[in-house]
Amino acid sequence: MRPGLRPLIAGNWKMFHGGGTGLALAIDCTQIAQRVPHVDLVIAPPYTVLAACSHECEGKRVALAAQNIHSKDKGAFTGEVSGPMLVESGCTWAIIGHSERRQLFGETDASVAEKTAAALQFGLLPIVCVGETLAEREAGETLAVVGRQVRAFLDIILAGAGTDKAVAIAYEPVWAIGTGKNAGPAEAEEVHAAIRKWLTEKSAELAKRTRILYGGSVKPDNAKALLAEPNVDGALIGGASLDATSFGAIAEAA
Ligand code: PGA
Repeated sequence: MRPGLRPLIAGNWKMFHGGGTGLALAIDCTQIAQRVPHVDLVIAPPYTVLAACSHECEGKRVALAAQNIHSKDKGAFTGEVSGPMLVESGCTWAIIGHSERRQLFGETDASVAEKTAAALQFGLLPIVCVGETLAEREAGETLAVVGRQVRAFLDIILAGAGTDKAVAIAYEPVWAIGTGKNAGPAEAEEVHAAIRKWLTEKSAELAKRTRILYGGSVKPDNAKALLAEPNVDGALIGGASLDATSFGAIAEAA
């Protein structure tokens, strides 16, 4: 965690908790927020429950994120949801380029860059996800892959975030997502430090205010050590964010 930055703890609910259980979890998260005044809490429920969660979270220090965004504001794009619609539903953040989107839904560095630009244009802060596969890590290509992914959207962030918007980048090694295998603190820090360096090469100011989150099997028992690393500014949590007890314990570790 870098001095001067507030930790950002974000829960990615994926395709879980779309109805009443989602609403109940959002209410639980507003209670967690009261216990961790030094932490920025974000939840990313499914689209169907965004507006209802937003209503519950209003003024209670839990911000809403979309799990995806379309790059256009409107149009004949069956099944898609635009930035202005997400804002209307109460979102202030958008997760972009999650590895599940890249691997299962054909998202590329180019479409991730486009969506990042759209999020900023429509008033949402992006949490842009990057990360290598197991094969890429074993081939020693981690920094090359993550570097390519990050460089694809750095100029867009620089142009779209101005001097005041604080975006986030999530490093999520694909082999660690939902597998119970997390990157060790030193492994995560190596990549986070590289991301900070690439940001600094673009703009020292941008590097200072961008939070770099770690994601991939973050749990209450490993969160503290990961968040203690100098360039780990928060976490993007999948499985452990689906339950208020574990999400709360992780937020308290920050
Ligand atoms: P996980 O998911 O915490 O279940 O590994 C992280 C993510 O997909 O963002």
